[in-house]
Amino acid sequence: MHAAVAAGQQPTPRPAIDVLSYGFQIVLPDTGFGVAAQAVVVFRRALDSPDTLALDLVGLTVDSVGSHGADRATGYARLSYTYDGSRLRIALPPRESDASENVSVFYHGTPQDGLIIRADARGRRSAFGDNWPERARGWLPTVDSPADKAEVLWLVSAPRDWRVVANGRLARQGRSPDGRSWWAYEEHRPVPTYTMVIGAAPFAVSRRRPLVSAGDTVPIEVWAYPEDSAWADSVPFRRVTEIVETLQRLVGPFPYEKLAHVEAVTRYGGMENSAAIFYAEQEYVARRMGEGVVRHETAHQWFGDAVTERDFHDLWLSEGFATYLDLVVGAALDGDSVLTRGMRDEARHYMDAREADRPVIDPSVIRLTELLDANSYNKGAWVLHMLRGLLGDSTFWRGIRDYYRRYRDSSVASADFQRVMERASGRALGWFFTQWLRQPGYPQLDVAWRAESAGRVALEVRQLQPDAWGRYAIPAVPVEFRRDGRVVGRRTFDLRPQVAPQVVSLALDGAPDAVVVDPEGTLLITARVRP
Ligand SMILES: [Zn+2]
Repeated sequence: MHAAVAAGQQPTPRPAIDVLSYGFQIVLPDTGFGVAAQAVVVFRRALDSPDTLALDLVGLTVDSVGSHGADRATGYARLSYTYDGSRLRIALPPRESDASENVSVFYHGTPQDGLIIRADARGRRSAFGDNWPERARGWLPTVDSPADKAEVLWLVSAPRDWRVVANGRLARQGRSPDGRSWWAYEEHRPVPTYTMVIGAAPFAVSRRRPLVSAGDTVPIEVWAYPEDSAWADSVPFRRVTEIVETLQRLVGPFPYEKLAHVEAVTRYGGMENSAAIFYAEQEYVARRMGEGVVRHETAHQWFGDAVTERDFHDLWLSEGFATYLDLVVGAALDGDSVLTRGMRDEARHYMDAREADRPVIDPSVIRLTELLDANSYNKGAWVLHMLRGLLGDSTFWRGIRDYYRRYRDSSVASADFQRVMERASGRALGWFFTQWLRQPGYPQLDVAWRAESAGRVALEVRQLQPDAWGRYAIPAVPVEFRRDGRVVGRRTFDLRPQVAPQVVSLALDGAPDAVVVDPEGTLLITARVRP
């Protein structure tokens, strides 16, 4: 462990029970809202682990629970369980080896959350999963935590004119004798439960130019309601393949076997479900959706989905990355001003937000939806932007690629990211991560300047932000000196985290008549400059 790692950031011990895969079989109704389902949960447990498997499942009826191979004579044996309406506790037989085990849960009912069955924005019946943060348990018996990722297999029976999309690759598809359609999807990469979804509606599907990734061909598809399909293809999803290619070049191989962009019922503007991204239908109907949300959600496939925050309080590892990469990809496709202008907007949004008074990582937050704030998104993006400025482009991107390679398909804490970036740069970065993630706010500088004799300019720098925000260190704050509107010199100074005013003396040819701190807006600071 690195000395700079703050308390409370110890790696979580391996769980006693580790889910390896879920297989969900679901029958979607022709009318009404009830579903019938079976879940097969494959898991491994540690030697000294408890003899109970506890699954989250809210408000449904459990019909029976059993296990294949638990009793070798019969092959399938019923298991006893208790269910209190939110936790299903299954009594496991004695652990005989370190082989994986399984349980099957048969259940039914009307999901109150997680699976939304209703008329879509075009007035047709549809069914959509919408799980973030802990709503998978409203329809799927799971260890509903981003710390326990698992493979997911889907077998969905749907009304005859529906098409079904889900995580993973479409493995099989057919029609049963009664005319209903069925769809089998397989996601063989472990993904978080909050991204395990299906979408079922009378979709129009358009296949886009596929991605070529490490010799494989990754299908890219746009699923939309028939009325919205042509618009979706030509406006927000016009450059879907270019976006994935750009991210792949910056970060590493696309993590999944296909990518579907899906018009959906979701309470979020977009939801980064692994390999099947959902976007809010209202934005299509109003013809309001742009490419930004597509870049953001696509970036989540790498960060959030493939590399997942182990604890939601580290949400910036997901949202900060997606917010930043949205702008970085935008800049790669359309020019640097996308990033420059975008970061200025992120700064303004963050500085205007009430939550600037709280740190990015704030374990005191209990309601997880409160984490969807200017800290996780806007300040999170700035943390990455300033880290890139500190380390330089090539070191920064080498670190990002290494972080993805190392932690793809697993769950991480902020300390893991710090460690990788320290290794990439050969520098201790505890001070950087501590001040930007665990201190609230940002530096508010007051800079008084005066021309000294012999071609020197003195700056007297004060940090005026509230004491509760703490003091900040910035090794190279850029300063520009101007005379008659022309730049006559550029210097940097080392901002020290001290309470007393800091006096900096800089050599300069000729006396300036104006001084600008951070002229390009590369830092999350405000600076009031006065002579
Ligand atoms: Zn996001």
